Amino acid sequence: MNAKTIFQKIIDKEIPSTIIYEDDLCIIIEDISPQAPIHYLAIPKKVIIGISDLDDTDDKNILGHLMIAIKNQMKKMRLKDYRLVINNGSEAGQTVFHLHIHILANRTLGWPPG
Ligand code: AMP
Repeated sequence: MNAKTIFQKIIDKEIPSTIIYEDDLCIIIEDISPQAPIHYLAIPKKVIIGISDLDDTDDKNILGHLMIAIKNQMKKMRLKDYRLVINNGSEAGQTVFHLHIHILANRTLGWPPG
């Protein structure tokens, strides 16, 4: 069996994190190394390595669920402008191999990203 990722340990409450939102399928936590005044990570509880590893059938609803959770959380915080980022693969910047969506807000964000 593969070793647990840091996010799996957070989901299993084996290590602490600041949890902003949690339901049966996902959590939203504060990023430990924020790149913007608001930097959260929306993480499915199911172990999925990245976008490339989504199952065509079983995982069809998981991204929709994450997006709705993000939308509701941002609405609750009255945030209208934010950027969502998914790094897929190490060359794209992925360092934790458990699917997650970065949520960045409260600063002007340049384009194109680095
Ligand atoms: P990525 O590079 O797209 O895989 O994103 C991984 C993110 O996880 C980075 O922004 C890290 O700062 C963040 N991170 C790593 N360890 C923790 C942790 N223990 N709690 C919260 N965020 C973390």
